[in-house]
Amino acid sequence: MTGLFFTFQEKGLIVEKMLLKVNSEESSQFIDITAGVSEAVRESGVINGLCHIFVPHTTAAVTINENADPNVEYDIIQTLNRLVPNDPAYRHMEGNSDAHAKSTLVGASQIVAINDGRLSLGTWQAIYFCEFDGPRTRKVWINIINAD
Ligand code: ZN
Repeated sequence: MTGLFFTFQEKGLIVEKMLLKVNSEESSQFIDITAGVSEAVRESGVINGLCHIFVPHTTAAVTINENADPNVEYDIIQTLNRLVPNDPAYRHMEGNSDAHAKSTLVGASQIVAINDGRLSLGTWQAIYFCEFDGPRTRKVWINIINAD
């Protein structure tokens, strides 16, 4: 993961933007990006606010789930594979309709509150970039809004 920072003001709101680059290595893979998002929050200096995490891709997603047992990621990927099989009847010419459907099911964004300068995640929660059509180089936008 590598990050680029941008800071600017939008209609009175101070917004810190960070672009995180993620390289996936599998066709389906969850990548823990919590450290990169936490770094963006630290760099912003925001004490109380909101952190919006957005994936600008149609065959990837972002979710929050358990960080203790890697089998949870595996089980979620297997569950999505059962729910959305790679059906030859799909019409989309690229042949990756299952990845598009998984992206829509999981979603392109998450919002986490920032309290006392830190992401207010639960003890066992991590933020995962979800690859469904890898391997690829991907982007994640992190938008930090100051509420003070
Ligand atoms: Zn496609």
